[in-house]
Amino acid sequence: MIQDPNLLAETLNAEFAALSPLDRLKSLREKVKGRIVFTTSLGLEDQMLTHLIFSNAIKIEVVTLDTGRLFPETYDLWRETEEKYGKRIHAKYPKSEALENLIEEQGIDGFYYAKEFRLNCCGVRKVEPLGRALEGAAAWVTGLRGDQSQNRLGMAFASYETQKKLIKANPLLDLSREKIAHFNDDHHVPINALHAKGFLSIGCAPCTRAIQPGEPERAGRWWWEDDTKRECGLHVPDRTAVAEGAGI
Ligand code: SF4
Repeated sequence: MIQDPNLLAETLNAEFAALSPLDRLKSLREKVKGRIVFTTSLGLEDQMLTHLIFSNAIKIEVVTLDTGRLFPETYDLWRETEEKYGKRIHAKYPKSEALENLIEEQGIDGFYYAKEFRLNCCGVRKVEPLGRALEGAAAWVTGLRGDQSQNRLGMAFASYETQKKLIKANPLLDLSREKIAHFNDDHHVPINALHAKGFLSIGCAPCTRAIQPGEPERAGRWWWEDDTKRECGLHVPDRTAVAEGAGI
């Protein structure tokens, strides 16, 4: 077993290119010693990974971040997925005191009024709980695709995250949305009912809208903000990078 995490990430990165998504997950599990956490937001890509993990009994924890502002359809999908596979999707919640302070300071929907307020909300409801979800994990699996947005071009299949001190693995990096949709169809994987209504990328209800034909996939997220690199901050090393718009 390779002990050096940088070397291990390099090895996985090189190996993943020739493997199927399922074999990428199996290889990751085989080569990484310690806990592996997959964070799902129950999107199309995440549902494919959840299917692969649960159906093949791969020892990877499936965790979601319940911000408290998700669509009812997302909660329905969460329940439906647990029922189909007979497995629990673990949940992390915002810290109650931090959430109370946030609402006190900027109001229940403060995110519409200032970018800083929006980042504060994502920080309390998503970024901090993610940190707890990944505490002590040796590797983190995501459903990121390389062609989802400009920020994601050039990502690696696997890399060592020095701040989080874990290997971040993106087993669907080179798959298209269409391929993933076909896989889910063929394998009867449950998906969010909102996809059929023009919601391609689904996050919190007040911060997600349906997109029009021809709009980029993530155009419906924080649509009122004018910069093109808007993200919630889950996939950047720290808040500074998010504030500078470098996040994804
Ligand atoms: Fe808050 Fe919107 Fe971020 Fe959800 S997406 S955490 S509601 S700002």
